[in-house]
Amino acid sequence: MKFKEDARVWGVLLAVGVMMLGLAVLGASGVAAQGQAGSGPPEWDPWEINPLDGPVDLGLTDPALVGAMDVHSHVDPSTPWNNGITRAIDFIEYAHLGKLRGVRGFVIKEHHSAAAAGYAYMIRKHIEPTLEVFGRMPLNFQVGGINVAAVDHFTHVRGGWGRIVEMPTIDAEWRYAGGPRPGREPRAPETAERRAVSRPWMALMPPGSPMAVSISQNGELRPEVKFLLEYVSRTRTADSGGRISISTGHSSGDEDVLLAREANRLGLLIVSPHGTQDMSPEQLQEYVRLGGFLELRQGGATAEWVRMVGAENAVVSSDCGFRHELLPTDCMAIAARTLREGGVSERELDLMFKQNPAKLVDIWPWRGSTTGSSSSAADRP
Ligand SMILES: [Zn+2]
Repeated sequence: MKFKEDARVWGVLLAVGVMMLGLAVLGASGVAAQGQAGSGPPEWDPWEINPLDGPVDLGLTDPALVGAMDVHSHVDPSTPWNNGITRAIDFIEYAHLGKLRGVRGFVIKEHHSAAAAGYAYMIRKHIEPTLEVFGRMPLNFQVGGINVAAVDHFTHVRGGWGRIVEMPTIDAEWRYAGGPRPGREPRAPETAERRAVSRPWMALMPPGSPMAVSISQNGELRPEVKFLLEYVSRTRTADSGGRISISTGHSSGDEDVLLAREANRLGLLIVSPHGTQDMSPEQLQEYVRLGGFLELRQGGATAEWVRMVGAENAVVSSDCGFRHELLPTDCMAIAARTLREGGVSERELDLMFKQNPAKLVDIWPWRGSTTGSSSSAADRP
């Protein structure tokens, strides 16, 4: 009996061995045939990694990355506008990558539409249901500028994962017109050459159209901006009942402070992605005193900034996903290492990578709390 079983096992092993040998011979003959042909380029392999064609996953990890919420990523499908920069990965690839590196989730910032809310829905339903993915929508010309209808759509796309509404970015007046910056060199206005690659749609607009989306005038937010913020403060997203946060977009330092004042008055959370570049130290101080979060994006995440504004008011994000940068998870890991080397504590990293960004998308702000995720604000303890 014992022998029979052994014989059967050996028989199976032998059969497998013969099969593998056969495959090996077939493979070898295939290689030989290719070698003999020797003409024409090799067939394109979509799985081949080509460092000249975009970033390679460095596979970096860090304790700060595990459970992190990246509130600022740029992934496909998108358009190459904004200086002609294309994306390195799409939203499904970031979902796989993020899951692999243990992030809690990420926010897709799509400059031109409300699509990110839909991408988040698709990831949660079909790719990685454990990842908490959200959308972020700037109010550029493609969505009609300062437009409540666009915000209503974005926040009511199935799932309710559109959670950050951003002031204009590419079409921002500050980016177009430039102007003085307190304590720094003035911001240069947009050149026609730059506009041609950055905002080609401007050449298609009817004559006499405004050249940018303006949010302020004479030191005050425009009435339509105030109206929109008021709407945002009292609306909740469809299905998941989430609160919506505001981002200052590519606004001036003055406008960042005006927005923070209004957000503070309305009980809205606000984050500034470019405050490190456009706010003076005094403006930054006031912005933070009003409860604003300052985004420290990869490369710009330094211990000096953390000391200046305090980890309670800072959020570390990747702002990656572009072809000319590292992949978002690597960007985040490098930011964590840079900050730690600069003397930033683990508690502070926890605040900036996990807790503060979780607040911005209205999920419970402590690490590992997935059961209470994406709850309505009313359920929060
Ligand atoms: Zn960005």
